[in-house]
Amino acid sequence: LSLAERASLVGPFDYIVLKTIYEDRDKSEYIHYLTLKKKLGQKNVKDLKISLLKLNKLKLVFKDSTSLAFKLTFSGLDILAIKMLYVNHILNKLGSIIGEGKESIVYLGYDFNDNPIVVKFHRIGRNSYKSIRRREPYKKSWITISVENAEREYKALKCVHDNGGKVPRPLGIAYNAVAMEYIDGIELYRVSNNAFDFTKLYNEILGTMRIAYTECKIAHGDLSPYNILIDKENNLFIIDWPQASQSEESLQHDIRNIINFFRRFGISDDPQKIFDYVRGIS
Ligand code: ATP
Ligand code: MN
Ligand code: MN
Ligand code: MN
Repeated sequence: LSLAERASLVGPFDYIVLKTIYEDRDKSEYIHYLTLKKKLGQKNVKDLKISLLKLNKLKLVFKDSTSLAFKLTFSGLDILAIKMLYVNHILNKLGSIIGEGKESIVYLGYDFNDNPIVVKFHRIGRNSYKSIRRREPYKKSWITISVENAEREYKALKCVHDNGGKVPRPLGIAYNAVAMEYIDGIELYRVSNNAFDFTKLYNEILGTMRIAYTECKIAHGDLSPYNILIDKENNLFIIDWPQASQSEESLQHDIRNIINFFRRFGISDDPQKIFDYVRGIS
C-alpha cells in the first residue's frame, strides 16, 4: 500500500497510539504493550489491541521479535506528519514520489486549492550520520535525528526565503516532513541550453549564499549543481538544506564546488575573494 493509502486507513485512535509510541522514542528503542496500556488508559484496552494489530500489518509499527513491545517505523512517522500537515491545512492530498535522496523521500502533494506542493520526508538511516551519533552525549533515536533535520531544513528555507534568497517557499513542517513550494524545473547539472546566461546564474547563487551566511548565519553545506533547480523562466532555487550550519569549512567547500562547476562556462574567480563576499566582508 502507498503512504497515502495507509494514511487513509489510520483512524483517530490509531493516530493517538502512533503518537504515544513516538513520544516515548528516546527512552528506549521499543515501548512495551503494558506501558502503552498504562498511558492510554484502561478503558481503551480492546481498541489498543486491535489498533496495534492493524498498525503492525500496515508496517507503521514494528513488533519486537521476542517481546510484546513496539517501535515506530519511518512510515509510521510519515503518517503522523501527513495527518498533522492535513490538520494544519497545508497538505490536502499526497501524490507520487518525485525524488529519492540519500536522506529523504520527496513527494508531490496537493494543497487545499489543488495546487501542487512538495513534501520532503526526512529519513536518516543507520548508514549516515555515524559521526554525529558518536558525538552525542546520549543516544537519540534515528527518528529524532530525522525530525531535527526536518526542523533545520525548514528554518533554513524560511530565513533565506524571508530575506529574499532564492529557495522554494517553505509552507510548513510536521515531524520529519517539510512542505514547500513545488518547482517545475530541472537540476542545474542537466541544463544544456547554449543561450543560458550562466554568469547571471552564478551571481545569483553567490547572492543567495551571501544572504544565507550574513542574515541566517548558515552555509548550505552540500551545495552542488544537483541541489540547484532551474525553472522554465530560468529562475533558480537552491534546495536541500538539512545540513546547513555556521561552519566556515562548509562555506569554503560550497564555494569550491560552485567555482569548479562554473569554470567550464568560462567563469573564473578567486575563492578567497568569494569567501569574503559571501561573508559580507567585501
Ligand atoms: P541528497 O541525496 O542529494 O542529499 P535529499 O534526500 O537531501 O537528496 P533533495 O535533494 O532535497 O533530497 O531532493 C531530492 C530531489 O527531489 C531533488 O533532486 C529534486 O529533483 C526533487 N525536489 C526536491 N525539492 C523539490 C522542490 N521544491 N520542487 C521540485 N522538486 C524538488
Ligand atoms: Mn519565493
Ligand atoms: Mn539533494
Ligand atoms: Mn541532501
